[in-house]
Amino acid sequence: METIRCLILGSGPAGYTAAIYAGRANLNPVVYEGLQPGGQLTITTEVENFPGYPEGVDANQMMDDIRRQAERFGAEIRQQTATAADLSKRPYVLTFDDGSQVACHTLIIATGASAKFLGLADEEKYRGMGVSACATCDGFFYRKKTVAVVGGGDTACEEASYLAGLAAKVYLIVRKPFLRASKAMQQRVLDNPKIEVLFETNTLGLYGEGGVEGAHLVHKKGTPEERTYDLPIDGFFLAIGHRPNSELFRPALPCDETGYIITENDSPRTVLPGVFAAGDVADPHYRQAITAAAAGCKAAIEAERYLMEQGL
Ligand code: NDP
Repeated sequence: METIRCLILGSGPAGYTAAIYAGRANLNPVVYEGLQPGGQLTITTEVENFPGYPEGVDANQMMDDIRRQAERFGAEIRQQTATAADLSKRPYVLTFDDGSQVACHTLIIATGASAKFLGLADEEKYRGMGVSACATCDGFFYRKKTVAVVGGGDTACEEASYLAGLAAKVYLIVRKPFLRASKAMQQRVLDNPKIEVLFETNTLGLYGEGGVEGAHLVHKKGTPEERTYDLPIDGFFLAIGHRPNSELFRPALPCDETGYIITENDSPRTVLPGVFAAGDVADPHYRQAITAAAAGCKAAIEAERYLMEQGL
């Protein structure tokens, strides 16, 4: 079986940055791109908050650039997706969707997280045309416009507050009669005159010519007071949680109750020697391209140290 010195799973900013550093350190990294080459960023349009791009950059272009930068330093990029991981002994063995298996001395898990969507066909139809799961990424395009955020947790409240700083009006669509967010976060939303909370409300669909122009909503569904109506909006933001892509590594790697891989404080080290977790799969807090890239860098440096210590 082929044995790789540094195997990187995932091709977002964390995975590719790890590959750049590992390549430059002569670790001969192999990156498995997974199901979504380029990662979550490729579902947004423009990136305006990544340092080094004063005019902003197309998200797909940026990921393509980072990938080519990794290749320039010798990273090999493969297309398969991992389907199983045997972390019970070293070297670790991974199985891929084409049935192939490889062993590795170090493993950098940069499989990211996936934003949850409601599952409406219209979310797909208007993806990148008014539908977004990231206010920090796309909020800027809705300056002085009207947007809706779906969700009642801390993320939704945070996204609604962030958007209220840019948009003219923010609706928060909450399916329950109360918010689940922390008290402080709830208060911030309720005190903001630009935010209107629509409790006990669900989204049935979206409408618009060439982009979102509104949402079909239902209030108090399934009760005698049920009422459906259309809400004109320019942007529709999902904030109903993220699912870290960590299933393959459980229970070998401890995860928190949401599934984020637990790493040592301020380090991508996991409980297993030579296994590192970087980016959104291990970060419930920041979830930014720049923080993921930084974690990828740290993981590659840790992998290099580990290989040296082990004489590998
Ligand atoms: P949560 O799981 O806490 O909240 C998800 C919200 O989305 C809930 O209001 C839930 O409704 C709603 N929701 C879920 N599915 C649907 C659906 N299909 N239709 C409509 N609404 C839906 O996720 P968060 O991302 O908000 O938070 C995750 C964790 O991260 C939490 O522990 C949170 O505290 C933490 N966090 C902390 C922050 C901070 O401290 N600054 C910032 C962001 C997150 P319902 O209540 O009905 O289930």
